[in-house]
Amino acid sequence: MSWALPLLQKLVPASVFESINLCQPDPTTDPAEAGKYGIVIRDGSTGKVKIRHQFPSIRRINHKKTKNHLSKDLSVQYGKRLVDITVRLDDDEVTAHFADGTQETGTIIVGADGGVSQVRRWLLGDEAAQEVLPCQFMNFSFSLPAEMAQWLDESLGPTVEVAAHPRNIYMGISLLDKPDATKPETWLFYILAAWALDDSTDGESSGSQLSKLRSRMYDWADPFKTIVEKLPDDTLIRQDQLRIWHTKAWNNHQGRVTLIGDAAHSMTFHRGQGGNLAIRDAYELFNKLVLVYNGESDRETAIDTYDRGAFLRGEEVEISRQCTMAFLDYKNMENSPVYQLGINPAMEF
Ligand SMILES: Cc1cc2nc3c(=O)[nH]c(=O)nc-3n(C[C@H](O)[C@H](O)[C@H](O)COP(=O)(O)OP(=O)(O)OC[C@H]3O[C@@H](n4cnc5c(N)ncnc54)[C@H](O)[C@@H]3O)c2cc1C
Repeated sequence: MSWALPLLQKLVPASVFESINLCQPDPTTDPAEAGKYGIVIRDGSTGKVKIRHQFPSIRRINHKKTKNHLSKDLSVQYGKRLVDITVRLDDDEVTAHFADGTQETGTIIVGADGGVSQVRRWLLGDEAAQEVLPCQFMNFSFSLPAEMAQWLDESLGPTVEVAAHPRNIYMGISLLDKPDATKPETWLFYILAAWALDDSTDGESSGSQLSKLRSRMYDWADPFKTIVEKLPDDTLIRQDQLRIWHTKAWNNHQGRVTLIGDAAHSMTFHRGQGGNLAIRDAYELFNKLVLVYNGESDRETAIDTYDRGAFLRGEEVEISRQCTMAFLDYKNMENSPVYQLGINPAMEF
């Protein structure tokens, strides 16, 4: 989280924001120090810094901890999978139907249901389908024996270590959680790896994902090389894909159904924008709903205005796609938005 932090501060109670550092993988990390360190992109073969994007304050956040933290004192019902929506234009209501046969009726449904949003599918049918990017992608968490975990923790900066290798491979390593600061063997780390689909081994079904990754690490700098070598042999790595959805305008049914976050614009993580934009959406939608609540706007106008902004913010999907492909095209990387925009928002909408 970078530029959206001041917006989040305006959205949540002061007591929740004051203790937001608890959501970090390591709650003791100083966001100002992390911002000074910034997001560093290294050359994977030498470990040398190619570019550093600093920011006044950066907080890495652990999803699970953040969900728990932000949902304090809220009534959240888990295990409810939305399967359908009914809109009744004559009586001003909208109903969400769930897989367990239950339903909820209200005035607006906000589809905050992520990259494969069912609300988006309901609004746009087949046009809601995601696009798969042409690359191999792996992401997985892991623990290490205490001494190795300590070494890796000391090798990592306070944000994420990102590298682009001249053989068109991307890798990011970060800390995910420190459940017990005194027991390094309990610490959880995270690896993201991607490479262009340009060699025959990508199509092979034999060989574990880990062995495919290891076969690409022989000329990497540390900590990348050593850590992949030292990963436990039984590390579970699932075959994964990078998927995006270029925002298309939707019919909000007179302001009754809208989309927010990844449901409205699902993008890759290479510029670290998806979560920031989700908070920006929340901030914009909140302000529009306040206008409706205060009688200063009707619902349809308010949601139309919000939707136009969310649509424009969807421009980031293409920018992030270009960044992803640039990481897999080493010689042209410096011409990409990774260099030009860093982690700044692309627009003011
Ligand atoms: C590896 C990685 C690194 C990232 N790094 C960054 C970063 O550095 N900075 C940044 O800003 N962003 C980053 N992002 C992006 C960020 O995580 C997402 O943009 C953000 O989580 C989107 O939030 P969301 O609430 O819209 O969707 P999600 O977090 O996906 O939440 C959607 C929720 O909807 C629920 N749901 C789905 N379908 C249904 C249904 N039918 N019924 C009911 N519930 C449903 C899901 O269970 C989930 O709880 C990263 C993403 C990844 C994958």
